[in-house]
Amino acid sequence: MNANSYDNLLKSKSRLVLLLFLLLNGSLAFYALLNPLQTNPPYTLPGIAVLCLSVLCGGIFFFQKNGYILKLNISALILGILWAAHISIKFAHVQSNEHTFLLLNLFSIFFIGMIALSDHFLAFCLYALPSSLAALYLNDLHNISRIIFIVVLPLVAFSVNLMMGRRLEHFTRRLVTRLEQDRERYNDLSMQDPLTGLLNRRGLEEKFSEFKTTDTDHSPHFVVMIDIDHFKSFNDRYGHQLGDRTLVVISSVIRDALRGRDLAVRYGGEEFLLVLRDASETLAVQLCEHIRQHVEKMTTDNDIPCRITLSAGLAPLRRHNLEEAITRADEALYLSKQRGRNIVSLAT
Ligand code: GH3
Ligand code: MG
Ligand code: MG
Repeated sequence: MNANSYDNLLKSKSRLVLLLFLLLNGSLAFYALLNPLQTNPPYTLPGIAVLCLSVLCGGIFFFQKNGYILKLNISALILGILWAAHISIKFAHVQSNEHTFLLLNLFSIFFIGMIALSDHFLAFCLYALPSSLAALYLNDLHNISRIIFIVVLPLVAFSVNLMMGRRLEHFTRRLVTRLEQDRERYNDLSMQDPLTGLLNRRGLEEKFSEFKTTDTDHSPHFVVMIDIDHFKSFNDRYGHQLGDRTLVVISSVIRDALRGRDLAVRYGGEEFLLVLRDASETLAVQLCEHIRQHVEKMTTDNDIPCRITLSAGLAPLRRHNLEEAITRADEALYLSKQRGRNIVSLAT
């Protein structure tokens, strides 16, 4: 779940509201046609129009994917006017119980509005206002207190509901954003080596599979294995804490030497793996030499009490076969160790 899927959820809710609103109007119009409150005239043109529009728009909007709120507002206004016209036409033929007739019709309109449009204040007003004004006008303001009661009460309930809904939505949106940020942070952390901040093996897997999907495989890539020389003796002599700090300093030398598109991984205790993307053989060797020389020259300024060196082995990455490239880079690293350490060797 992320902010995008939350927006999609709200969008699908608006779609359902629109379809429900049309369904309720269509049903009310259909019911009014089947059981007219006053028999003369049994049907009105606006009443039939409500039924046809509801069915037609419902069918069309069902297959559309956007603009639900605008469609809802426009539908609410048109249907609201049609119901007001329907009530006015019918009212002209009502012989007795005019007040009951008006209240009953008004009640139906507000009932639909409250059910379908409880989160859409503007649509509710556009829908209910024409019938309310028509009722007030037709009633010569006689029954004004009852009509106002029917109109005002839902509006008050509406405002409270809307306020609570807005607060809830604001809270949910903040929560979703926060969860998304936390998830990204924990995902990043789970891919990182806590001591050096470089990628760990899980990070390598993740980043390498991303790289594979975007790579065109036209440019050469190189895999490098780096191992600190005689690090066990260093630890024995200076202690593990200083050993740890040395690992951190060497990691930052590696990070500074690489380009944004390269991957740097703490592959083992004092072993690092690099994936150099879009790098020619010359550039890959140069980068490794740069790191080797930089580490060799590190002094007490970097908290390193003695000369420290590293060996490296390089191998080209072919057809995104990381396993094969690592094996070959490891063999080249072994060659560097055999040749006396503090050397960069290329796989043969
Ligand atoms: P070589 O030149 O052949 O690589 O010799 P080496 O001593 O570096 O290799 P070896 O594999 O014998 O020892 C690796 C040492 O790395 C052992 C361990 O003390 C050290 N090491 C591994 N991980 C860490 C770590 O996280 N912190 C510290 N301080 N030392 C570590
Ligand atoms: Mg080692
Ligand atoms: Mg070593």
